Formats: sequence, structure tokens, C-alpha cells
Amino acid sequence: MFVNSPVESIEFNGRHIFVKRDDLLSETFSGNKARKFAYFLENEFPGKSVLIGHGSPVANSLYSMSALAKLKGVQLEFYVDHIAEQVINSTVGNYAAAVVNGANIIDISKMADRQERSVIEYIEQKVLPERDDCLFVPEGGRCEYARYGVHHLAQEIITWSQAHNLLQLSVFLPSGTGTTAVFLNEYFVQHAPGIQVFTCACVGDRQYLKQQFNLLVSDASMHPHIVELDKKYHFGKLYRPFYDMYYKLLMTGIEFELLYDPLGWMCVEKLLDSGLKQPMLYIHQGGLLGNATMLPRYQRKYDRAL
Ligand SMILES: *Cc1c(COP(=O)(O)O)cnc(C)c1O
Repeated sequence: MFVNSPVESIEFNGRHIFVKRDDLLSETFSGNKARKFAYFLENEFPGKSVLIGHGSPVANSLYSMSALAKLKGVQLEFYVDHIAEQVINSTVGNYAAAVVNGANIIDISKMADRQERSVIEYIEQKVLPERDDCLFVPEGGRCEYARYGVHHLAQEIITWSQAHNLLQLSVFLPSGTGTTAVFLNEYFVQHAPGIQVFTCACVGDRQYLKQQFNLLVSDASMHPHIVELDKKYHFGKLYRPFYDMYYKLLMTGIEFELLYDPLGWMCVEKLLDSGLKQPMLYIHQGGLLGNATMLPRYQRKYDRAL
């Protein structure tokens, strides 16, 4: 299976930081979503020939689900609220790669029976009741099954830290739904109390992220530590400091993505500046395919050509 991604070390602000290269998990199926969807890859679902997903047509989860469906030999049906013309016409990025993988992307704004339904309501009321060949995966992989693959990742980190005699370790990863961060920290609390998870809220604010943690793990003593910056950055928007951080990281020899990682590394910077002395491991959660559409937008806004 897709396990044991390598750990590398980079120099960042004069410090050595370990990077867990989950972006290298496998050629076709890697990063955060591969961990969260591992449960579906490694289990059999007799009679289920269609995988049902939903979310943004430019999201990493669309591409990752298309890769999963291909590996499992099933059809992906991915429901979206609408698709922008430029997304349909693009030959690169998550949408284009998912189409190449055979994904059937369904724009419900074009369905006569949508009425006022949200995408979830449409799936629950119009799709699932009429078919029993479908396996439904909620948006972004935010549910119980994700625990399986994330705990596996946690155990990999524990095994690695023990092999390198790192009894105290800070693990950093930026959060969307917070699913990965909270399941990781839960496992560390139970199995390796010397390892602590730090994260930041890329989508929504601290309050939203806390709420997400609570939905999945009710015991707040198992929640990760949330790092905050003074300024609020909105998800999916372009910011000069994000672009600068992308290039700063590129100089270390590793490419990171542009939605979550710039904020993540800005928070790492803050942690280091605040005097954190423990060794740090940053989890590279993949998502590089999205750079094919994000980078041109950044280049148009902050042209770096000299
Ligand atoms: C989905 C994703 C995240 C967010 O993961 P959560 O478990 O929702 O917090 C972060 N980085 C990348 C690259 C992702 O694809």
C-alpha cells in the first residue's frame, strides 16, 4: 500500500526542519487525501461500483477521488454546485486531471430537478435513494473513516521519531476541516505523549476549527494547538506574503502548494520566533496539482519577471 513516505530535512530561517513527504506517497494518489481515503482503498465494498463525491471542481479532493476510483476500478460521480467556464477550458490542474482519470463531474446547476437544493441535499434526496450501487464520501474526507489512514500516518511518525531518538517533537500541518490534525493528535496523546500537533486555520477562523475538532473528537484535551497570526487571510485569496513564502520554500528544494502551505509556514515562522526549541516535523500534504492553476493567477497579480 501507500505507506512510509520519506522524511527529509530542510533549512528554514536558520533552523533544520524535518519534512514528511506525503506528497511523494505514490505517483498517482498522494498527500492528505490519500491518507484520508486510505480506508476506501484498503477495504472492499461489494456491490458498490460508483463512488459519489462532492465539493469544489478545482479541489484536490476531486482529483484524489478520481485517482482512488481509478485504482479501485469504479466510476467516480462528483457533484458540484457550478463550474466556471475557465475551469472547463483549462488543460491543467485538478479538474482537468480528474477528467483524464475518467471522473464524471456533474454540475447540478444544469439539472432540471435541482430546485433549491444544495449539493448535499441533491445527493441525499435525488441520487442515493434511487441507487444501491453507490458509496458516498462526504466533502474533503471529513468523517470517521478518515481516522484509519490518519492514525496510520501518526504511527509512521512515531516509528520514525523513535528510530531517530526524538522523544520530544512538534508536528505542524495546516488545516482545512481539521480532520487530519485532530486525528493525528488524538493518536499521539494515546501512544506518544512527547509528540504535539500544531496547526492553523486556513479555512474559517479559530472558532470554526475548534468546532470541527469537537465534532470529531469530543475530548478537548486531545485537540491540536492552534497557531494564529495577527492578520486574517481568507481561503483561496491571493496574498503577496503567500507568494513570497512559496518562493522562499522553493529555494529549499521542495515545492509546496499555494492554498494551505504558505500560511502554514508563516505560522511555523511565528512558532520559531516565539522560541520553540523542540525539533519540528512539517507534513507536506501534497496538493501540487492545484499549483498549475494557482501559479498563473499569482503571476498575473504579482509578476515576478525581471
Ligand atoms: C485537504 C487538504 C488539507 C486540509 O486537510 P484537513 O484534514 O481538511 O484539515 C491540507 N492540505 C492539502 C494539500 C489538502 O489537500
